[in-house]
Amino acid sequence: MPERTPLIAGNWKMYKTQGEARALAREIRQGVPAGVRAEVMVAPPYTALAAVAGELEGSPIRLAGQDTFWEKQGAYTGAISPVMLADLGCHYVIVGHSERRQHFGDTNQTVNRKLLAVLEAGVVPILCIGETLEERQAEKTLHVVAEQLKEGLAGLPGDARERPVIAYEPVWAIGTGLTATPQQAQEVHAFIRSLLRELLHEAAETTLILYGGSVTPDNAASLLSEPDIDGALVGGASLKADSFLKIIAAAG
Ligand code: PEP
Repeated sequence: MPERTPLIAGNWKMYKTQGEARALAREIRQGVPAGVRAEVMVAPPYTALAAVAGELEGSPIRLAGQDTFWEKQGAYTGAISPVMLADLGCHYVIVGHSERRQHFGDTNQTVNRKLLAVLEAGVVPILCIGETLEERQAEKTLHVVAEQLKEGLAGLPGDARERPVIAYEPVWAIGTGLTATPQQAQEVHAFIRSLLRELLHEAAETTLILYGGSVTPDNAASLLSEPDIDGALVGGASLKADSFLKIIAAAG
């Protein structure tokens, strides 16, 4: 089986002022044990990216944007481009997070434009997909996930330097304290990997598929032990160094 280095990603959402973000980044940096197997990433709000970049300078911890617009520049008041995020030192940009889909009107088509623009800027997109509770109860999970994946990855250049990371985040598990069981998550992750084999061929074996949805120090190890779960996208539990560091340790 190909080796996939797990990625533990913290999404700080709309939390942390610059000073708070700097302090949290420092605690994480100091707490990550040397030689840890996982790659670690944090996504502060835009306003704290520069502060956190300064704090993480010289460390292997990666920086990420939580979202982006797709144009490089222009008269788009309030928007941020992938080029700007790359310039701030972002290695990753999250696209299609369910909170963007729910509150800001993101669709599979706009998420796809963002993903392609992120790749063009030489940054790695993390494409979030996942079903709502109603969709799961109606047994539409695999259908919804397949549509989000295929439409989100449409037009992916065969020769793209960077490969997207996929994050399976059941909407009903985000910020709710409800978590997919390792078996529920593995079933969807294996399905995503089978679709990636059709779309990306051999690159599917090295593509990371993260799980997100109320990951905590208590459930991280069992989720991460599943064969197709290659890391975690962590919201609430990434806002405190102590819980985030325990999840990083659970990745080995
Ligand atoms: C997220 O923000 O992507 C997330 C999974 O949040 P939480 O861990 O709080 O459910």
